[in-house]
This record gives sequence, structure tokens and C-alpha cells, in this order.
Amino acid sequence: MSQPKTYIVGNWKMNQSIAETESFFKNLSPEIKHYSGETWIAPQFIHIPLALELAKSTDGKVKIGGQNCAATDFGAFTGEVAAQSLKEIGAHFVILGHSERRAIFGENDQTINHKMKKSLEKNLFAILCVGESLAEREGNKTFDVVKKQVIEGLSGLAASDYKNIAIAYEPVWAIGTGKVATPEQAQEVHAFIRKTLTETSCPAAQELSILYGGSVKPDNVEGLLKCPDINGALVGGASLKADSFYGLCR
Ligand code: PEP
Repeated sequence: MSQPKTYIVGNWKMNQSIAETESFFKNLSPEIKHYSGETWIAPQFIHIPLALELAKSTDGKVKIGGQNCAATDFGAFTGEVAAQSLKEIGAHFVILGHSERRAIFGENDQTINHKMKKSLEKNLFAILCVGESLAEREGNKTFDVVKKQVIEGLSGLAASDYKNIAIAYEPVWAIGTGKVATPEQAQEVHAFIRKTLTETSCPAAQELSILYGGSVKPDNVEGLLKCPDINGALVGGASLKADSFYGLCR
């Protein structure tokens, strides 16, 4: 049985101009070439080709992906981006079920599950985001909420799909707020997610990487990554500048 891999994934959301994207890679490339881990960046869809081109200067150290994709194949879905198109353009992965997609764009577990299936069918690596709101945590619902999101998000996947899946636990109250979960709080939920995977006979319960996301910064990442069930980080704000992104990786 192999160990979960460690990933540092940057979610740029709807940020970074063309000039900022160019400057990010110019500053990152000399440093990241010496890093041996997996580093991934998800820019806006329209900047994926630019990021792929610029990432060549990292000697393949940075892989590029999307922040979302459609749940369906090509068709009359104005404004959507197909998983197949992401794959064809050279994206390696896609982030699905981010709390902003759930809260602002009304995505539910069923939609997210369809997106997981479509992405995996098109050979994209899929990162399933889960996490509770502040009200849910304060109402002692964290485990129920996370369990439902994990089970429904992964429902009906084939055993062979699991080599291309990671889960990101992102407590909503910690995203973009500067309020990071303590390593103990995060580890408790990560261990619970792994237990849920085991109990539901997930074929990759022990190997699947579970990333933490929510105000991760170079000065708190180490404590989080020391926890046995935290296998990387999904990072928003601190992934926008090359020095802090490299600081996380280092
Ligand atoms: C995110 O958007 O997934 C995220 C974790 O953001 P931040 O690191 O800014 O909290």
C-alpha cells in the first residue's frame, strides 16, 4: 500500500492579471526547480494556456488545472467549460465543490458528483472540496456535514478512479478569513474523513491524499503538514505571490 502523496495546490480564484501571472512564474521558476514535490496552480480558465506556457520555465515542476468544470458533455450550456476542453488544452487537474461554488453558485452534492464523474472520465485529476460553515461547526454538525459531502461527492465512482482523486478539507470559516484551523482541529476532521472512507469501503481509504485549506500561510503550513492525515494544502491568498507560494512548498 502506497503512502498518500503531498500536494501544494494554489487556487487563484478570479485573481491575477496577465502581467501578474507572468511575474509570478518569472519569480517562481528559479526557486521551484529545486523542489521535489507536487505543486499545482489553478488560474482563471482564460489564463490556463498562458500559465501552461509560462510553467514550462519550471521544468515541469508546476502543473496547471481548472477551478471548476461542467457536469455534462459538450452542448447548449452557455458560459460553461467542459472537462474535455480542459483536458485538451493541457490542464492536469480540476478543483470541484469549492465552498464558493457551493455558496455563491448554488452547487449541491449531486451536481458536484456529476462533475467528479465527468472530470475523471476525461482523465483529469479531481480535487473534491468539503467543509463546514461556522454555524455548522458551532452547532456541532461538522462531522455530519463533511460525511455527507464526502459520501455524496464520491458516490458511484469506480475503484480505478481513486488514483486520480484527492479530497480538500476546507472549513468555510477559515477560507480567506485569516482564521486558520489549528493542526488539532484540522487533523481531527482529516482522520474522520479517512475513517469515513474506510467505513464506506473506499478502495483507496489509506492512500488518498487529504489536503487542508483555509488561510494556510508559509508560517503555519509546517504545523499542519506534520499531522498524520494532512497530506498537503489547498491555498488561496498565499498562492498569489511567488515568494509566499514557494515559502509554502519549502
Ligand atoms: C481557498 O480558496 O481554497 C482557500 C483556502 O483560500 P485562503 O487560503 O485564502 O483561505
